[in-house]
Amino acid sequence: MDFPEIIFGNVDSLEWARVKIRHAMTLDTKLARQIHHMSKCLKGTYTALEPYFRRYIEKVCKECENPCCVNRHGFPDFEDLIIFCALGECFGPFDCTQEDTEPCQFLGEKGCTLQRCERSYRCTWYFCDKVFDRFEAEDQKAFARFERLMDQLCQQRIDIIKSFKRLWHLELGTTRL
Ligand code: SF4
Ligand code: SF4
Repeated sequence: MDFPEIIFGNVDSLEWARVKIRHAMTLDTKLARQIHHMSKCLKGTYTALEPYFRRYIEKVCKECENPCCVNRHGFPDFEDLIIFCALGECFGPFDCTQEDTEPCQFLGEKGCTLQRCERSYRCTWYFCDKVFDRFEAEDQKAFARFERLMDQLCQQRIDIIKSFKRLWHLELGTTRL
């Protein structure tokens, strides 16, 4: 089952998805508790990853003359909103009047102004080859640990989304879309 698409820049579509996800989380308390527990493990992985981002990745991005951060990347999809809800994070506000190809509105002078777990997932896993090549060349062992943690993060995310699908089926059964 695919989740609905959130249309870029459409604040109604974003708000609709948030409300539906929050409501779905109330439909099975036991499952929602499990998801909450899983989200704590996910947050732990984000925390474990943070030193690697800071030490090996951010310094390259901060020097970048042409950052890849644009509004389209900073805008979350439905699965991102599930994860934000599970983590108790609240995305936004997002200025929907800005073009998708303009520099991302969350990009500050010192890089992204959002915490890692508040960003869309693509902002966590995507970095250009230059970043990864320099990281690997600088410290191969650290790079291998970073990759293992990124795989763990990906799997934890998949597990939360899979569990949420059961709640979403309940949501679809109780409401007309
Ligand atoms: S990932 Fe690459 S292109 Fe994007 S900001 Fe970092 S260095 Fe620049
Ligand atoms: S990393 Fe931050 S600044 Fe860059 S696109 Fe994502 S949200 Fe925007």
